[in-house]
Amino acid sequence: LTKRYQHSRMDGSRIDLPVGKVVCVGRNYVAHARELDNPVPTTPLLFIKPPTALVPLTPGFHLPAGQGAVHHETEVALLVGQAIERSASIDPLQAIIGVGIGLDLTLREVQERLKRQGHPWEIAKGFDGACPCSAFIDADQFADLQNISFRLRVNEQARQTGNTREMLFPIRELVQEIVQHFSLLPGDVVLTGTPAGVGPLLPGDRLALEIDGQPGGHPGDGHVTFQTQVLA
Ligand code: ZN
Repeated sequence: LTKRYQHSRMDGSRIDLPVGKVVCVGRNYVAHARELDNPVPTTPLLFIKPPTALVPLTPGFHLPAGQGAVHHETEVALLVGQAIERSASIDPLQAIIGVGIGLDLTLREVQERLKRQGHPWEIAKGFDGACPCSAFIDADQFADLQNISFRLRVNEQARQTGNTREMLFPIRELVQEIVQHFSLLPGDVVLTGTPAGVGPLLPGDRLALEIDGQPGGHPGDGHVTFQTQVLA
């Protein structure tokens, strides 16, 4: 691994939680399900990336080589601060302590082959470095987690834009469904799905990932931009 990942805050300080699993949801934005010719799901399509998939988003990250196209999927990342289990009465929104932005990097050609064969997706989505993740903004800085705009530009070109209100399965419902299957522990991350516009990344690409909606912390422009690049 190029660099050990630790959960961190916007000021660079370390968040004292273990680095846990990343629970992801596929097809949580209708337009993205359609762009890949997938049916729109009636229950969340869940999968997991292991802790070894997490790497710092900034200042740069690597792509796996020699396995075909690697697509960006830009997603709002939620940091879990307290355990949520199936029987727990805790409100999922109270257990989320941080909001960041991450990439669900996907070996798209490998994934297409696995899907055709009816095989699990792990090697297409769970490889080392498959989840570059930003620092986390305190969740209480957001007026409404279900109304956060975010976007990705690659080499100054707009690639993806979304708002969490467009989710098929909103955060509370999504987390409640996740914990029917996988307990969430402090230090786990939930990736909440990608809007349309996924596409390939190449070494040398310069990325800007932007997240809005935290009026408390950033007066003025109201958004945070993470600049990064794909390392050769
Ligand atoms: Zn995804």
